[in-house]
Amino acid sequence: MSILVFAENWDGKFKKSTYEAISYGTEIAKQTNSTVTALVIGNVSDDDMKSLGKYGAQKVLSIKNDKLKSMNPSAYASAIQQAAQKESAKVVILSYTYSGRSVAGRVAIKLKAGLIAGASALPSSTSPFTVRKKCFSGKGLTDVVVSSDIKVIGLTPNSYQVNTKEGAASVENYAPTFTDSDFNSTSKETKKTSGKIALTEAEIVVSAGRGLKGPENWGMVEQLAELLGAATACSKPVADVGWRPHHEHVGQTGITIGPNLYIAIGISGAIQHLAGVSSSKVIVVINSDKEAPFFKAATYGICGDAFQVVPKLIEEVKKLKSAH
Ligand code: FAD
Repeated sequence: MSILVFAENWDGKFKKSTYEAISYGTEIAKQTNSTVTALVIGNVSDDDMKSLGKYGAQKVLSIKNDKLKSMNPSAYASAIQQAAQKESAKVVILSYTYSGRSVAGRVAIKLKAGLIAGASALPSSTSPFTVRKKCFSGKGLTDVVVSSDIKVIGLTPNSYQVNTKEGAASVENYAPTFTDSDFNSTSKETKKTSGKIALTEAEIVVSAGRGLKGPENWGMVEQLAELLGAATACSKPVADVGWRPHHEHVGQTGITIGPNLYIAIGISGAIQHLAGVSSSKVIVVINSDKEAPFFKAATYGICGDAFQVVPKLIEEVKKLKSAH
């Protein structure tokens, strides 16, 4: 028996969430006495594929097929299903990223498997197979019991640590077969988001909301983010009115993130916003209203005017950086 991990890459480079998924799969493999095979679709170098051994993969199945150059959920799901069957995989793991979400349900249907969508922890038991995930917009936790023979797990990014060890994976070329229906839809164009650091990968996120009054005031947010090596994010209304691009919107209807540090500037902390950021390890809230609900979720709170506090923070970060 093996565990199959879909090792997502962007332009030939693995994402941090891929290493998390393989580390996670490796721990389940220990619990179930099985091995880990990673499935790579796209032009990733042999060295990078072998390096997945450092995270616990014994073997990599490499699919290089021009028809799969851009993300196609149906065809990717078919490739993952065929790889899972070839490896007799009983557990299939995907990072629950945008791509992973578009594929995980299809894979589960094809394999007649139960799906744990957005797992946030290792299985607490493998018999019955029980995995914890968040529910009610992050307000609650639920233990999902899957009784099907095969299990598909969508692992929430940033919810499991990356573990490394010595080792290199063997690489095997793999060419699954596709039918016309696997290509019922195709992507015409893929555009990279403008931010320098991908929001879902970021260790630090600087985010702002309606308290900033207008798009012309985002300069200080971007400057603080750049100094900290952070990605920028925003609340929903800010994206809705076009102050910021939609791909920065975090929350229940936006992206879910779990960085080490989340700095929220001029955001009230509505439950729908918290749903997307409550997994952050440390939350710093800057808000002029001491009654703002976000302070209840904050690790550190600064009650003050963002237009005074943020420039001071920027100065302090600059001083700290120049001292080192
Ligand atoms: P506001 O609520 O207007 O808050 C602005 C904050 O800025 C206030 O707390 C104010 O005290 C503070 N402020 C004002 N001036 C200053 C200053 N000078 N310095 C410092 N602080 C200042 N929202 C999301 O963000 N993400 C979602 O995914 C999302 N999904 C939703 C889904 C549904 C179905 C619904 C109904 C709502 C959803 N919302 C979502 C909207 C959510 O309910 C809130 O309306 C929204 O998060 C508020 O955005 P905000 O905090 O930027 O603005």
